[in-house]
Formats: sequence, structure tokens, C-alpha cells
Amino acid sequence: MDIPLVIVCVDCGGRAHLLTHLDDEVPPQSGDVLAYRCEDCLDRWDLVFEDDDSDEPDGSSGHGPL
Ligand SMILES: [Zn+2]
Repeated sequence: MDIPLVIVCVDCGGRAHLLTHLDDEVPPQSGDVLAYRCEDCLDRWDLVFEDDDSDEPDGSSGHGPL
């Protein structure tokens, strides 16, 4: 999974840098909040990290037991 270190500030279009310390051994889980600070307007942005790769089990097995 890729976590952007810099995002575009929605307010001013500047660069907002990741504040949250990333630990290689403890990757963020889906639902974790990543905080960014804009270098131009100093606004803080909190993004909720979502892991899109997790496939959820969908009980699609409509057949009976074998
Ligand atoms: Zn900004």
C-alpha cells in the first residue's frame, strides 16, 4: 500500500505534509487517521486511511454442502 507523504491542500492548493509517523513494521490499518499540515496556510487535514485491497468475504456460495 502506498501512503502519500504530501497531498494537495484543498484550501490553497499548496503542499500538505504528512505529520503522522509511519512505522514500517506497523503499517496503518484501514480506518486509521493520517494527519497532514499544509506548508502554505498551515491548515491541518485528517485523512482516514482506507485499504482498498482488502477483499471482503461475500457469502456467495449458494450451493449446499458437498
Ligand atoms: Zn493550504
